[in-house]
Amino acid sequence: MSYSTVAKNELCGIRPESDCCALAEAYGLLLYSRLLSEGHDSYATDTKEIAVLMGETMASVCGVYTDVITLAKNGSGSRYMVSIPNDEQKKLICARFAGTSGGILEKECCVASFLRGVFIVCGTVTEPSRDYHMEFLAGSERRCDILSDTLERLGIHGNKLQRGDRWLFYIKGADDIIRLMKAIGARNAVQHVEQTKNMRDFRNNANRLVNCDQANIDRTLSASAQQCAAIRRLIEKSGYAGIPPELREIAQLRIENPEMTLRELSESLSEPITRSGVNHRLKKLMELAGK
Ligand SMILES: [Zn+2]
Repeated sequence: MSYSTVAKNELCGIRPESDCCALAEAYGLLLYSRLLSEGHDSYATDTKEIAVLMGETMASVCGVYTDVITLAKNGSGSRYMVSIPNDEQKKLICARFAGTSGGILEKECCVASFLRGVFIVCGTVTEPSRDYHMEFLAGSERRCDILSDTLERLGIHGNKLQRGDRWLFYIKGADDIIRLMKAIGARNAVQHVEQTKNMRDFRNNANRLVNCDQANIDRTLSASAQQCAAIRRLIEKSGYAGIPPELREIAQLRIENPEMTLRELSESLSEPITRSGVNHRLKKLMELAGK
C-alpha cells in the first residue's frame, strides 16, 4: 500500500465535529471529484474507504443515496465506483452547494475539513524518504485557485501547473506538507514524515561535518607539503646546521610528522609555544628556502 493510500485511509476515519465542517468536507470531496461538474456523475477509486466515505457523505449531507459498485480489476485489488443514479439526484446534490461556495469556507474550523476532502479525492503525497512532494489533480485552473486561496489561509504555499489539458497544484517542502497534514488530521502520516525529516536532517548534518573535517585535513596536508619541501631544500643546501638554531627543532618535527596540525606541533616541541608561534616559524623557514 502506498504512503498516500495509508494517509488517506487514516483521513477517511475522521468524522467532522460539526455540521458546518461536515458540509465543508463534503464540498471538498464533491467539487474535486468533479461530481458537481456537468457531465460527471461517477467517481472511481482503488480505495474502498474513499468510496464508502463518498457514499455516506452524499447520504448524510445531501440526502442522496448513491450506488457504490465494485469493479473487477486485473492484478491485485479492486476498483470502486461511486455513481449518482439519475439527474434528479444530481440536481439535489448541486443545489446543496449552490451559491454557497464562499460561505462554506468562511469559518476557520471548516478550512481543514474542506482540505481533507480535497486531499482524499485528488491528492497524493510522495513517500517522505524519497521526496517532499504533495500534488492535487485539481483538473481546472479555477479549482487550483480555490485550493491555493484556502491553503494560503493556513500559510501554506504551492504552485499550479498545466499539464496537457489538466491542471494540477503542488506543494514542496517538508514544513508546508507537515503543516497541511497536521491541519487535516493525518496524525500517523505526519509522525512518519517528521521521523523521516529528522533522520534526513541528522544525516545531512553528519555528512556536512565529515566533509568539513576532510577539508581541514586536506588544507593541513597541502600546507604541510609546502613546508616540508622548503625544509628539505634548506637541508640539501647546507644541512641542519644551516638552519637558524631557533628554527631547527620545528623543521625536524615537521619533516618527520607531515600530518601534524599546528596545535599538535606546538605541543610536541620541547618548549611548547603557541600555534601562531609555530606558524610564524614555519613561515620563516619557507622564506629562507625561497631566498
Ligand atoms: Zn466548521
